[in-house]
Amino acid sequence: MERLISMCKQRGFIYPSSEIYGGLNSCWDYGPLGAELKRNIKEAWWYANVQLRDDVVGADTSILMHPDVWRASGHLANFTDPLVDCKECKRRYRADHLETDVCPECGGELTEARQFNLMFKTFLGPVEDDAAVVYLRPETAQGIFVDFKLIQNATRQRVPFGIAQIGKSFRNEVSPGNFIFRSREFEQMELEFFVSHDDDDEWFRCWVDYRWKWYLSLGINPNKLRQRPHGEDELAHYAKACIDVEYEFPFGWQEIEGIAHRGTYDLSQHIEHSGKDLSYFDDLTGQRYVPIVIESSAGVDRTLLTFLVDAFHEEEERTVLKLHPRLAPYKVAVFPLQKKPALKELALKIKDELKYEWNVTYDETGSIGRRYRRQDEIGTPYCITVDFDSLEDGAVTIRDRDTMAQDRVSLDKVSAYLRERLTWKPEID
Ligand code: ATP
Repeated sequence: MERLISMCKQRGFIYPSSEIYGGLNSCWDYGPLGAELKRNIKEAWWYANVQLRDDVVGADTSILMHPDVWRASGHLANFTDPLVDCKECKRRYRADHLETDVCPECGGELTEARQFNLMFKTFLGPVEDDAAVVYLRPETAQGIFVDFKLIQNATRQRVPFGIAQIGKSFRNEVSPGNFIFRSREFEQMELEFFVSHDDDDEWFRCWVDYRWKWYLSLGINPNKLRQRPHGEDELAHYAKACIDVEYEFPFGWQEIEGIAHRGTYDLSQHIEHSGKDLSYFDDLTGQRYVPIVIESSAGVDRTLLTFLVDAFHEEEERTVLKLHPRLAPYKVAVFPLQKKPALKELALKIKDELKYEWNVTYDETGSIGRRYRRQDEIGTPYCITVDFDSLEDGAVTIRDRDTMAQDRVSLDKVSAYLRERLTWKPEID
């Protein structure tokens, strides 16, 4: 983890936020490569969950919502973690994360657990009184539930159908940590899928499979991925089932996504608190009912950490980030063998042609070997080298990041060569 974190900082993936002021605990900034990787993860999620499906539509709802939303959802009353302090060293812990009942750092006695609400509070408008209190959303899902009727009317989708959203969420975590794994500001990719009361269990299984295959289709090592069903004691009182997708990080098996059968809880709560009718009328059967919700909720940052950890390989000669090409920040790097004008000119021409289709980088400094190593470390799947022969035979060398094999490809075939290898068609149906 330490070497990965240091690579992330050096190469421009992830930095501590506000570093010149000493940083802000558990807040992170994504640099140029981190921003590309994150965008690619979100796009690969959207592509599989919205674009490829006729039964899912997207939304982008507000971070600040009416406070009654959080009353109805149960977050105001129940979105709490049990907090304990060490009476000796004053360290603070989440009681449910402790394996012993004395301080793991100094062995000191712990206080009784107090419930601590994880929602960040702020004020809407200039007057800081109780009536102006609003919360930063701790999940994106509620925006989907409260807009359910609007979206269903506008799109004329029929149950079963889903609404997907990607956006920031905030939780005032008691003990953030493990790099970007648990932070107080993070992004989520959530899908709420509305189904009838006849095939809810089938849809739950179906989404667990679909999401599972998404990770595999992006190259995650299946031996490091598992499904962990929640026990009865872990399930929320309204939920019928929940399966966590977990990855084996260097700090242990941890949840990266939760897929849950939430019953009719979400829509029923909003029906009760808003007084609005959010039921669904099926004009084929003539039945009116409150749909059941199957939810898939994944963290963008946790998923990004998963892909980074899984891809990070330290080999004898090189460090290589074996990211799936769909996720790699740059798809192609173009090099002139030497800084000779004729070679540079052709290399830049190739780069300028490819940039309309892919994110391409150009590098002319240092030996070719060093340039390959630089691209290996940031996960660029293909490097194109323009050499003196290229000027004669109109062909370039394309080198594969993982196998390090090299192909000689004529200039008019370069795009097709790359397209064949870079196009992602997930096999997830
Ligand atoms: P945990 O038990 O780890 O606190 P949770 O079960 O409360 O997580 P959910 O409410 O199910 O998490 O959130 C769905 C997803 O959102 C998680 O699987 C995770 O990927 C992401 N997530 C939740 N909290 C955080 C956080 N503090 N930092 C980064 N990602 C988070």
